[in-house]
Amino acid sequence: MGDNPASRVYVNNKKKACEECGFKSEEFALPEETTEEELLSLIDTLNKRDDIDGILCQLPLPCHINEEKVLLAIDYSKDVDAFHPVNVGKIMIGNFDFLPCTPAGVMELIKLTGIEVSGKECVVIGRSNIVGKPQAMLLLHANGTVTVCHSRTKDLASVTKRADILIAAVGKANFVTADMVKTGAVVIDVGMNRLDGKLCGDVKFDEVSSVASAITPVPGGVGPMTIAMLMKNTLKACKLHNNLN
Ligand code: NAP
Repeated sequence: MGDNPASRVYVNNKKKACEECGFKSEEFALPEETTEEELLSLIDTLNKRDDIDGILCQLPLPCHINEEKVLLAIDYSKDVDAFHPVNVGKIMIGNFDFLPCTPAGVMELIKLTGIEVSGKECVVIGRSNIVGKPQAMLLLHANGTVTVCHSRTKDLASVTKRADILIAAVGKANFVTADMVKTGAVVIDVGMNRLDGKLCGDVKFDEVSSVASAITPVPGGVGPMTIAMLMKNTLKACKLHNNLN
């Protein structure tokens, strides 16, 4: 809804990924002044359409729309972002159909790199519902020892320095500096910030890369993985709706 320039880029990237995967995608670009009732009515229509397996509502929404109400309205079996409370609860229990795309992408990166999470000190900076909290839960499911930091955390650097695996999801450019990172740590940068018009992460890449054993860049690290996980969730939804394995 509306014309948030970042949302425009994200939606275009998602549509392109669908095309590459051979998925049919439909975009409903609603004007800023659309009412909550109209948006909920569209979601209801899409929930009922058999030819639609996955629905996502690109956030953020304009202030007059209740985001919680909208996320709750999406049929949880079509909730490919995994933001519906039913899916959030399933992730907590560890018995889930869909994982939230960004944290799932981070776990996939760790797995594909052959890094073992079990028994490791994992520190997540950020506790949002979209990234920080589910990220912590997934690391816990993988048997990491997990600490979640936020804006009230005291002496943040002393906590982050303990991390074997450090995940930054703060939303502040160059926030994580080399003196906050243990030598040999794996550093994953979820941040997507604009600095002087350029996309950059939460981690000061140049200096942290000389301390870390592995580090993800921005752009190019977690971002593309997020979209890949969205495609994975969509395929899963299609299989669930069609009783395919
Ligand atoms: P958010 O909702 O703004 O959450 C930011 C978190 O950082 C909050 O929990 C906040 O703590 C914490 N924080 C802020 N200042 C801090 C400080 N000085 N010390 C320690 N913690 C601090 O952001 P988000 O939605 O999680 O997104 C985080 C970043 O990831 C953004 O740059 C976003 O653009 C990016 N992102 C990227 C992708 C991707 O696909 N790569 C996907 C989603 C988000 P409090 O809770 O105490 O306020």
